[in-house]
Amino acid sequence: MKLYEKTAHELHDMLVAKKISAVELTNNLLARIDEKESDIGAYLEITRENALATAEKVDAKIARGEEIAPLEGIPCAIKDNICTKGVKTTCASKILENFVPPYDATVMEKLNAQNLVMLGKANLDEFAMGGSTENSAYHPTKNPWDINRVPGGSSGGSAAAVASGEAIFALGSDTGGSIRQPASFCGVVGLKPTYGRVSRYGLVAFASSLDQIGPITRDVRDCAMVLNAICGNDKMDSTSTAAPVPDFTESLVTYVKNLKIGLPKEYFVSGMDKEIEDAVIEATDVFEKLGAKIVEISLPHTEYAIATYYLIAPAEAATNLERYDGVSYGARVDGVDVVDMMTNTRTEKFGEEVKRRIMIGNYALSAGYYDAYYLKALKVRTLIQNDFTEAFKNVDLVLTGEMVNDPLKMYLQDICTVPTNLAGLPGISIPCGFTREYLPIGVQLIGKPLDEATILRAAYTYEQNQNSGNKIAQ
Ligand code: GLN
Repeated sequence: MKLYEKTAHELHDMLVAKKISAVELTNNLLARIDEKESDIGAYLEITRENALATAEKVDAKIARGEEIAPLEGIPCAIKDNICTKGVKTTCASKILENFVPPYDATVMEKLNAQNLVMLGKANLDEFAMGGSTENSAYHPTKNPWDINRVPGGSSGGSAAAVASGEAIFALGSDTGGSIRQPASFCGVVGLKPTYGRVSRYGLVAFASSLDQIGPITRDVRDCAMVLNAICGNDKMDSTSTAAPVPDFTESLVTYVKNLKIGLPKEYFVSGMDKEIEDAVIEATDVFEKLGAKIVEISLPHTEYAIATYYLIAPAEAATNLERYDGVSYGARVDGVDVVDMMTNTRTEKFGEEVKRRIMIGNYALSAGYYDAYYLKALKVRTLIQNDFTEAFKNVDLVLTGEMVNDPLKMYLQDICTVPTNLAGLPGISIPCGFTREYLPIGVQLIGKPLDEATILRAAYTYEQNQNSGNKIAQ
């Protein structure tokens, strides 16, 4: 049986009904990995024994007649910038080649409390910097729908694993689109929660004011289940919010009547692929037919979002990446003295893109340039946030497109994703069809702060009312 094609909620029901065992399920996924991994390259490490040992625990629990949690025994992939105790966490960088974290990220603690079957650590662009998963220091990941294409990034390994049947769900991280963009490239669902919704403790920092962990899944129900499992206030992350956490599966109702959805005119920029634009317009038609009201809105500072993001993110990255100095942990390349050792370590072990960002970041932060670049970027960030605050006075959600698989359009595709991070808002990408070349297309819904519930309700309603086709690439 092709168990690897199913969703987490279907598999949960099958486990509870004793139609399958957790070990059988895990073996099914491991066999699929053996079949696909040489083509796809979704993983940096596969944790076979650990996965089977946990699956056995789940089976024993079911045999004892105990209740199991929604994700218990469901095989998944974890992006390799999320710390996993006793399992290497490399960030796809040579500088962390042999780094084995002595602790679990909070999201891992939460998931392990419900016997998470982790199949392995998923590939990414080095330190999550990039949008194609070609910047991994180990190997690129391929798009399961066409292995001559990129899967997007930086959570490309996570999205490709879910799309190819090499994992049922995955965790990714999103600093400027790294969950939503690969989800759209791979034809799966990806949610970036509100900044602060999910603890960042144990997520290797890229740009701390933008980073957020979130689910990559096959459908919206799974997305709500994973979000339920990972979110909540955490004393280990002072930026995590104390806001009450609803049960997100309660949002899974098909009802969008009178929901006001804004289409920002600035996102339908010239140069956007016609096929994508058509698919997005079609998605808005679906919402309209279901009773939602579509209104044009304006987010006037959108054109500055890329410049703002590419100052703030590298500035924070330059600071965060100072810790890789060859002293406390990570790789060390010897030198004649300590400064030489640090220089050699960082020169040899960081990749080109990471070094480029460290240089941009330090430049923007340096005396004399700070006001002109970094401080100005912070001010523009506020203007971008204010655009959304204004827009959300009149609408419940904002709908935008996502890009297809064309590296030349990477710049444009970041336009669709980074404003959400700069404003700290939740955003989801859900599949909305295929191009003529049979590459997936995604549509993005952006919500008010902490209003993942409305995003999930609209996404669920859309999903139940359209036929997006098979979510597994064969
Ligand atoms: N593509 C963006 C970048 O390169 C986003 C990356 C991310 O969200 N981690 O920075």
